[in-house]
Amino acid sequence: MSIAPDQFRQVRYERPADGIARIVLARPEKRNAQGNRMTYELNAAFDAAAQDETVRVILLAADGLHFSAGHDFSETFDESFERVSSWGASSTDGADALFGDEMEVFFEMCERWRNLSKPTIALVQGKCIAGGLMLAWACDLILAAEDASFKDPTIDMGIMGVETFAHPFELGTRRAKEFLFTADWLSADRAMAFGMINRVVPASRLAAEGLSLAAVIAAKPPFAVRAAKIAVNQAQDAMGRWQTLRHAFALHHLTHANNRIKFDAQIDPAYARTAAGDHIKGLEGKIRDFGPERAG
Ligand code: ZN
Repeated sequence: MSIAPDQFRQVRYERPADGIARIVLARPEKRNAQGNRMTYELNAAFDAAAQDETVRVILLAADGLHFSAGHDFSETFDESFERVSSWGASSTDGADALFGDEMEVFFEMCERWRNLSKPTIALVQGKCIAGGLMLAWACDLILAAEDASFKDPTIDMGIMGVETFAHPFELGTRRAKEFLFTADWLSADRAMAFGMINRVVPASRLAAEGLSLAAVIAAKPPFAVRAAKIAVNQAQDAMGRWQTLRHAFALHHLTHANNRIKFDAQIDPAYARTAAGDHIKGLEGKIRDFGPERAG
């Protein structure tokens, strides 16, 4: 099923000014954790903005204190949403089910949003973790509040990084290694110094700065802006981004398989016993299942 904006439950689609659409993660009680519903609502919202000729710039914002806690570990894969890619509907007794599901809802979806035909700006406040990083990185520009911080904790789960492995391109190679190996927080100021984000602004100014920047871009000739976006994305791809992501996605699934062999689970169960893994306590049973359910 495809979702109309007036049926969204975890995302809001707004038109705050001429030429500007704003897509808002609207699940603050779950720190905007991203499950299937949010993923498909996001995709429908991006489509709505892309297909509306009066929209020239798209903002991606989030309700509440935090941009996103990442993927929702508590959800099972919901087959009722119309698949966007050709992946999925695999058998559930091997590695292929998880591979197909993550291809659909993480890899191909994020690349689709990254290559959307219109410029996108992420507005990040508070925590931006794992799957939250994938959302922010899919946008062309990132504005961060002073309190924003970024983290990919997947190595603590026995996984080599999030499903869209753009770290070397977002951070540079040595900083990407430190970010991954330590699974530690990256502050907005350091992310700014590393070139991962465009601006750091006071939290109280984040929405206004986002609108102001969007208005500047919306006033430019739209096809020239789109062509510039494609050209920069293509430059990154020519530098090996696409091949890096495809190869890393396979390694991501090798680490899922390693956990399956060692622990009969998609992620290292020790993670759930750490402070960082607090949010998946009580979900070990779900994470042990390898079929249509997934984690990490
Ligand atoms: Zn995964």
